[in-house]
Amino acid sequence: MATVHLRNIAHSYNPYQEPRDYALKPLNLTWEHGKTYALLGPSGCGKTTLLNIISGLITPSDGQVHFDDTDVTHMPTANRNIAQVFQFPVNYDTMTVRDNLAFPLINKGENRSDAYRRADEIAEILEVTNILKSKAEGLTADLKQLVSLGRGLVRKDVSAILFDEPLTVIDPARKWHLRSKIKEIQRQFNHTMIYVTHDQTEALTFADNVVVMEAGEIRQIGSPKDLFERPEHTFVGYFIGSPGMNLIPIDFDDKKPLIGSQPLGIDLRDIANSGKLELGIRPEFITLNGNAEGFEMTVQNIENVGEHKIVRGAIGEHGINIIIPENNEIGSDTVFVNFDPKHTMIYSDGALVEGTENG
Ligand code: ATP
Repeated sequence: MATVHLRNIAHSYNPYQEPRDYALKPLNLTWEHGKTYALLGPSGCGKTTLLNIISGLITPSDGQVHFDDTDVTHMPTANRNIAQVFQFPVNYDTMTVRDNLAFPLINKGENRSDAYRRADEIAEILEVTNILKSKAEGLTADLKQLVSLGRGLVRKDVSAILFDEPLTVIDPARKWHLRSKIKEIQRQFNHTMIYVTHDQTEALTFADNVVVMEAGEIRQIGSPKDLFERPEHTFVGYFIGSPGMNLIPIDFDDKKPLIGSQPLGIDLRDIANSGKLELGIRPEFITLNGNAEGFEMTVQNIENVGEHKIVRGAIGEHGINIIIPENNEIGSDTVFVNFDPKHTMIYSDGALVEGTENG
């Protein structure tokens, strides 16, 4: 396993493009040995491009890729010792599971009996020993994907395992099983794993660190807790969570900040002129106030989603969602709400203003 360093990496599929239009804007990133990472973002944000740069399927327009101290920027994929698991399982359909597992080793010239011994070991870890003699073509999608993963794991010299939306074709009921199997294997072998997905639940439950991307740029790298509690960019606030963070424009009345027409009660004099200011607060951190104190909110819709309710409404003309316990009743069209100061963030042109997040 290796630590993967990306140094000033950028990529354009079009040689005539301006840097601001690149599929991947310049970035520096280190993927540490033995850790799990998710690359999360909407379709087209550059996740696959970044993954393909690490695997060597794409040579970046700018910058270098290092595996530990070795510069692999121009090294072909086959020499990088990368294992890859794609959306669609990659196996030889007419070969048995055992042959599929042993093939990557035999192909590299390893002794056949050693290759089959290792294939059997991996089958045991993946709990597929009972299907070793079955042809790959007859297997269910999740078993095929497990075998695909096994074909990567048989090699002992793997630098990193890359997953590109590996659960897309898996039956929803089996996704959880496959994901926990991958995590279990990671803990056992201490592999560096990079997992691309556009599904926040998958990313947050899989990875130690999640890299959130938008439009070819990294918006934040952090633990699932960091991304939830302290989004460094409005995109992260909005993209993570269900519903996402409320982002409310801050108006000013002679330097006094307002939400709608109501005073915000935070001193923002020092940053009043620094770009577009927004207040960010997650629906989970807003509470109802029974004494008519706080922000006045009109209620438009209440959704009961099982363990809690989502109340959708507005403060002034700004839409806002709050999450309240299932047993809380709302009896009128107007309520008063309080924002937890510890979780009230201020953003300027999308970026978190440091030092304002603790009220
Ligand atoms: P998805 O989740 O849809 O796969 P993604 O986040 O993986 O999206 P990429 O596939 O890396 O995003 O694409 C990033 C940008 O590069 C997009 O604007 C896409 O249209 C563009 N792009 C990707 N592959 C090519 C290509 N071979 N030629 C030209 N443009 C491409």
